[in-house]
Amino acid sequence: MRFYRPPKILSWMSSSLIWRVNIEQKEIHLTFDDGPHPTVTPRVIEILQRHQVKAVFFCVGENIRKYPEVAKMILYEGHKIGNHTFNHLKGWSTSDELYFQNIDVCDEEIEHIIEEFNKEQMLLNPKSKPAETSNLFRPPYGRITPSQIRELTTSYHPPKRIIMWDLLTFDYDRRLNWKTALYYLIKKTRNGSIVVFHDSIKAEKQLFHMLETYIVSMKQKGFTFTNSID
Ligand SMILES: [Zn+2]
Repeated sequence: MRFYRPPKILSWMSSSLIWRVNIEQKEIHLTFDDGPHPTVTPRVIEILQRHQVKAVFFCVGENIRKYPEVAKMILYEGHKIGNHTFNHLKGWSTSDELYFQNIDVCDEEIEHIIEEFNKEQMLLNPKSKPAETSNLFRPPYGRITPSQIRELTTSYHPPKRIIMWDLLTFDYDRRLNWKTALYYLIKKTRNGSIVVFHDSIKAEKQLFHMLETYIVSMKQKGFTFTNSID
């Protein structure tokens, strides 16, 4: 069997990393990494919309720059955009200086797209609620050093909330037996689980096999979905 839950040692490593939230609530937190992507992301948004589920999209800055209209679709549906660095960098093999610079450029990109989105929405409907920036950050590959964690959670204004996960779906693995993966995903989900999917081409096939059935099954079990993790 594959390892769906992070090893405990990782959770002990730093109390600043967030693996689950609001564990007293029957709530699930869906997250989508590595987008926006011009064909995969809109399909994800459409499924979420159909089931009235709000999620967090951990976007790669350069993808926002390439596909600004897709990023705006995410905002339009009331989802949140979190920072996933500008170039999808591995914290372990990147100097702190470069790592923080890359995160800052991604923040600027997110701020820029939110500003543009809000301006456009204002013209269309002056009463519309503006989209807001978030302080959510997810390290690509989950690889981040203790000094990077410290800096992001203490020196940044506002401090970053470093969102890890309670369950990986392995949707990025093209050889994945998605039926088994889905079975375990449904079985292992618990209060406050943070679940990682990917809105990327690599994950597309597995993702679309799993996502909708997962949402429907969990709702049947009495869970709700929320993107309030800040
Ligand atoms: Zn990633």
